[in-house]
Amino acid sequence: MREGAVTDDGKELCQRCGASGYDRRTLWMACLYEMDELGLPFVHAQAGDGRRFYTLLVCKQCRGSWMGAIKQWFRSQTRPDE
Ligand SMILES: [Zn+2]
Repeated sequence: MREGAVTDDGKELCQRCGASGYDRRTLWMACLYEMDELGLPFVHAQAGDGRRFYTLLVCKQCRGSWMGAIKQWFRSQTRPDE
């Protein structure tokens, strides 16, 4: 499922930075939490097996930034009891 604004020439808009292009991809996220509370423009999507996701249609640059954020989060120092 892909959602998002489309220009007259069929280009899709990145939901994060607004750039238009033909290479948009959908990030699918879920963590058993009401992610709409984050205040981000998620689009709700459902996989073929019924699982529900929060999605964002983004450009290549924003995908890279998203992956970098996950990498930074995963490698950040945490205490075992957190
Ligand atoms: Zn973008």
